[in-house]
Amino acid sequence: MARTTCIRSADWVVAWDAKSGRHKYLRGADVVFSGDTIVHVGGRYVGAVDREIDGAKLMVMPGLINVHTHCASMPVFKGVREELGNPRFYMSALYDGWNLFYTEMDDRRWSAQYAYCEMLLSGTTTVVDMCYPFPGWIDAIGASGIRGYVSPLYQSARWQTENGYRLDYVWSDDKGAGDFKKAMDLIDQAERHNSGRLLGLVSPMAVDTCTAELIRDSLAEARRRKRPYQLHAGEAMMEFLEVTRRYGTTQIQWLAEHDLLGPDVIIGHGIFLDHHSWLHWSTRDDVRLLAEAGSSVSHCPVVFSRYGITLEDFGAYQKAGVNMTLGTDTHPHNLLEEMRAAATFGRVAAENMFALKTADIFHAATVNAAKALGRDDIGALAPGKKADIVLVNLDDPSMQPVYDPIRCLIYTAADRAVRDVFVDGEQVVENRSLKTLDFALAAREVSRAQRSVMEKVPSRDHAKRTAEQVAPLTLPVERA
Ligand SMILES: [Zn+2]
Repeated sequence: MARTTCIRSADWVVAWDAKSGRHKYLRGADVVFSGDTIVHVGGRYVGAVDREIDGAKLMVMPGLINVHTHCASMPVFKGVREELGNPRFYMSALYDGWNLFYTEMDDRRWSAQYAYCEMLLSGTTTVVDMCYPFPGWIDAIGASGIRGYVSPLYQSARWQTENGYRLDYVWSDDKGAGDFKKAMDLIDQAERHNSGRLLGLVSPMAVDTCTAELIRDSLAEARRRKRPYQLHAGEAMMEFLEVTRRYGTTQIQWLAEHDLLGPDVIIGHGIFLDHHSWLHWSTRDDVRLLAEAGSSVSHCPVVFSRYGITLEDFGAYQKAGVNMTLGTDTHPHNLLEEMRAAATFGRVAAENMFALKTADIFHAATVNAAKALGRDDIGALAPGKKADIVLVNLDDPSMQPVYDPIRCLIYTAADRAVRDVFVDGEQVVENRSLKTLDFALAAREVSRAQRSVMEKVPSRDHAKRTAEQVAPLTLPVERA
């Protein structure tokens, strides 16, 4: 018999309004879930309940959906990558930084666990985790309690630079095809996990690192499996220039010409499209093509803003009809902070504070994300939907004074106010503590992993530099 939980008389509830197809605030409402499903959102619930939670001084909201992460590789970059751009690669750290600081296979599990901790503690209940496969991945994400899209990355070419100013592509079509097959086997394995919370997402790495054939076969396979699909495009200047040189056209126009867009396609980042001000490209078609295809963009503003790069602009994409979603890509895996950055950088890029509303950002992190993943049972609070629920503590000083709780949460409090989190009706965070994972242990292991990565930097660098030479500390260090 499923247990029934009632959050009684919540001060604020972010409830789903089916008529308008938008969220709305509901005051003084009960939210009830039984097993993994919401059964009631509204006035006083009179049915029997097994557990009652006092909703006074709480906002009840749907769990957030992070559509773009690389959990196994990003935590060791913390404190390193924020100022690690390459001036000769239009400031991107993708090409050489990645090769110098990659996480060893055996440590990736800890890195992923650290990221799952950060996400759950900041109210994320569903994650798209795009990783190069590592041992123990499915066990780790399964045990975390998060709703996970296991998205193994694969590609036909890898980036390489021998001098720090020329980007080369080392091609191996056979490896791409072989890793694609292994990725599908791993998805099968994930979907058999006894939690029932894991699904697959098909994710060839990027337009510039995959052959046309691999991209085409991947999308066909996603459609055969009825699973979502994501491809990086418009992530970097170097990639835009490479693709226009290789195909004579932009990434998005090339995808459109080959019938490789659609409502089931998520474009990772989508920043350097033909209209971006850094490019001065002659066309203005990319955003319109994405909108006409009904495709989504997973927007990760924080990591790019550190390099002085931003998407131009969230409001314009949305107005054109692109389904805008959000991701963290890297650390911190805190979608609330990402929502804040999406709102403020969206206005800066548009030079217009009315370019978007906070409600648009909240929809991006919930129902737009659900739509991108092809589902209507997450990202909203209504009977019949999954019990993925976040309880926000309005009593936390960081939330006060509470005139508008979503604004207080996004622009100020962030994870400090996330008190309890439920996924599939199971409590994974209680009073700001994780019930499923040991954050302190994951942090210790990631610290050890980072030390070992730092020691290996000279042997991985083309100029044999130390980690501190590649990524100098904020201040000079003196021994006392
Ligand atoms: Zn990415």
